[in-house]
Amino acid sequence: MKYTLNLGKLFGISLKVHWTFSFLLLWIIFLNLSYGQTTMGIAWELFFVISVFGCVVLHELGHALAARKYGIPTKDITLYPIGGIARLQSIPKEPLKELVVAIAGPAINVVIAILLFIGFKSNQQYIENLTLLDDPLSLATYPFYLMTANIVLVLFNAIPAFPMDGGRVLRALLSMKLPRLKATRIAMWIGQFFAGVFVIAGLFYNPFLMLIGFFVFFGARNEYKYIKNYEKFEPFVVKDAMSQNYVPVSTKDTINEAIEKFYNSHGQVMIVEKNGIIYGIVRRPSIEKYIKEGNNQQRKITTLMDKEFEVIDANQNLNKTYNYLMRKRDKYFPVMINNRISGIISFSKIREFLILKKEGYQY
Ligand SMILES: [Zn+2]
Repeated sequence: MKYTLNLGKLFGISLKVHWTFSFLLLWIIFLNLSYGQTTMGIAWELFFVISVFGCVVLHELGHALAARKYGIPTKDITLYPIGGIARLQSIPKEPLKELVVAIAGPAINVVIAILLFIGFKSNQQYIENLTLLDDPLSLATYPFYLMTANIVLVLFNAIPAFPMDGGRVLRALLSMKLPRLKATRIAMWIGQFFAGVFVIAGLFYNPFLMLIGFFVFFGARNEYKYIKNYEKFEPFVVKDAMSQNYVPVSTKDTINEAIEKFYNSHGQVMIVEKNGIIYGIVRRPSIEKYIKEGNNQQRKITTLMDKEFEVIDANQNLNKTYNYLMRKRDKYFPVMINNRISGIISFSKIREFLILKKEGYQY
């Protein structure tokens, strides 16, 4: 994703932070300065906010690791000023698994809150001196505030509306009895009802609630659209979307001959093959690089080909392939029927196919 800073990896999942996050930190500093806050006070505020986002990361990690248990990888976890997003490659279709993945996030915050509670409950003097949420942040009040933040995270996510976890829990519970699309539609309606409540409450109390309302409204609609498309495209396989736009070349061809075939046919990728059996692949960038460097074009094309390549089965489910190829944007893969090449496929190719199926040809 663009405009993000890579923070490293957690359990093999990339952790990123969006650049707008820096606005949040600057805003906190600005706000505190205008209140005449001390440097120490500001440092505590920043430390606290970063700690809360640390808990958000653990929350997202909860979703990601639960999904991994069901064989669903997570592309990355990104932090935004309004929260975190874990990009799971798909969501489990079985209601029970979806329920587990949805609950795993908030469950982490419940555990953190309980641990913090046990921690400061043992400090009797601390509890006696605590004047609930009135004390400034300090070493003594920090655990209490962090516990409160975790409870707020749990409550916020318990709202039964997409894109909050509560919406997914609701859908999972409904789809134990109803078809998934219908369950999603009902969950969407309930979510939009809550969105309306937020917008109205926002008019009277706090404009920020209105913002959440709109966020929930569109989140609910997007979720429904996603599932609707998903169901609609379920019958399709890779064969339906693949293209023939590849250039077959022979193992005997020189690089020069192969390049000539390639540029005369407007193909996307060069496939070195014999009777449908693939020996290697030559992709556009390596051809262009080879020409640019002015290398010897009389050598065999086999010296330039990539012998390590992935192939995709023509009868594989299209939705599944779409999710899989999302990470390998714009790269073409050979599609095989009985170990022989029958076409090529890429993420953008499938997307094009799905868009055409959905909207039709528009003249
Ligand atoms: Zn969550």
